[in-house]
Amino acid sequence: MIVMKFGGTSVESAAALERVTGIVKSRLHRKPVVVVSAMGKTTNRLLKIANLAVSGQREEALRELVALRDFHLRESGMERTVEEHFQELTELVKGLAVLGELTPRSIDAISSFGERLSSLIVTNFFNHHGLNAVHVDARKLIVTDRRHTQAVPLFDVTYAKLAAVIPPLAEHRVVVMGGFIGATEDGITTTLGRGGSDFTASIAGAGIGAEEIQIWTDVDGMLTADPTVCPDAHRVKVISFTEAAELAYFGAKVLHPATVLPAIDRNIPVLILNSRRPQVEGTRILSEGVASTNAVKSIACKSKVMVLNIRSTRMFMAHGFMRRIFEIFDRYETSVDMVATSEVSVSLTVDETGRLEGILGELREFSEVWVDENQAIICMVGENIRRTPGVAARIFNALGSINVRMVSQGASALNLGFVVAGEDLTAAVQALHREFFTELDPAVFDA
Ligand code: ADP
Ligand code: ASP
Ligand code: MG
Repeated sequence: MIVMKFGGTSVESAAALERVTGIVKSRLHRKPVVVVSAMGKTTNRLLKIANLAVSGQREEALRELVALRDFHLRESGMERTVEEHFQELTELVKGLAVLGELTPRSIDAISSFGERLSSLIVTNFFNHHGLNAVHVDARKLIVTDRRHTQAVPLFDVTYAKLAAVIPPLAEHRVVVMGGFIGATEDGITTTLGRGGSDFTASIAGAGIGAEEIQIWTDVDGMLTADPTVCPDAHRVKVISFTEAAELAYFGAKVLHPATVLPAIDRNIPVLILNSRRPQVEGTRILSEGVASTNAVKSIACKSKVMVLNIRSTRMFMAHGFMRRIFEIFDRYETSVDMVATSEVSVSLTVDETGRLEGILGELREFSEVWVDENQAIICMVGENIRRTPGVAARIFNALGSINVRMVSQGASALNLGFVVAGEDLTAAVQALHREFFTELDPAVFDA
């Protein structure tokens, strides 16, 4: 068995579904289990509708809902299924408009519809185009905790269910399930966080002991930089699990950060492939690193980051200062990406968050805090970084006059990260890319 996950753009239209059908057919002998995302930008559109509904724009929300229904009708031709789902959605949206409040639980109820629909649509499409497909509701298999919008699977129960249900079905049919969604033990719908279909694919792969997990997307694989920032990025042919996880964590959206964990646990290779160019061999993510003459494998970046500079109001860092700081972030369930300290102060980065006011209020009870908004993290990743002298010098040299606000190296041994102003991000990444990826090791990169 293999798991094949197709992302939003890979299932965005009838034409895209045709490509997917061809790709699955060519791998039928490997007993594919197909995991699909919502079609195109459906998740974004559903979240927008929910926000409109609770902010007094009920009519606009309902209009957007009709447009989204028409899109699904047009691309799938599944009148009854689409109508039924949108009737339920309309009731939900009207209910939200009355309540005027959006809870994480209702966000999940709404955003789950994208994958609930796409998985039924893909199953139906397969069955009409020469494949024998069967749909399973991911919410019956992926059992999670109650942390709505960021739910974490209860692995033991989930793996047991996957192992019991999927292999017998996959013996003679193509199993299709939605990514991203799950349910609590008492059956309330949850989601695994944005981009979570990759995670579903990896969980499913681990649960059924798949021989491979394939992530089909809209680029040729893991690239040497985010192609929207650096259009001349090259494909990385092989990368280690740890490097891939680090890249995902620091912004390489091509892979959800939690994706590789279940795969590592069971030593299952993960492949990233392009559904528009299936002949390209993609990126292979392996448990072992591959030696390379390039110190850096890829540059990840993340914009819309805030730097908090926190200074102890006493003249030195009393013991317990760090603990107090991190307890606050813990209580606000806000994760910190990068930290740097000096004698009396701590700088740290967080993604832009609605919880900032509460966090600042508590920090200011025992410290002075300055906030720099619109910052960006750039993270150079590669297992050779620690072994290669002179990498830092090359980085700072390439950055020239671009101001570096914060630096971090050492924590993971395979990354060197730093913060620049948001407006410098593109120039910085492009300069670094020129410095580190002009000469390429052909064993690792597609030149
Ligand atoms: P999908 O809908 O298939 O899950 P995503 O949009 O979530 O696809 O992820 C693919 C996108 O990730 C690419 O189109 C690309 O813009 C972005 N991306 C960011 N960093 C990288 C990187 N290092 N390599 C490849 N793609 C990247
Ligand atoms: N549809 C979900 C999202 O857009 C999950 C995914 O595509 O991975 O976040
Ligand atoms: Mg994705």
